[in-house]
Amino acid sequence: MLAPYPIQCPYCGEHFGILVDPTAGSAQSYIEDCQVCCCPMNIDVRIDDDDQVHVTVSGEDDA
Ligand SMILES: [Zn+2]
Repeated sequence: MLAPYPIQCPYCGEHFGILVDPTAGSAQSYIEDCQVCCCPMNIDVRIDDDDQVHVTVSGEDDA
């Protein structure tokens, strides 16, 4: 079941939802371009034992 997870772009501050696929594993990280400013965001997804999704978003320059 895919549900959009609300995140905020670290570059432009825009809020939007990303789709997290829980079947892809409990720890995922990938790059996704902001839908508004097209900057690459580092998306870090963790899914805990209660199937709670935690998403951390960071910009490329604050690594
Ligand atoms: Zn943006």
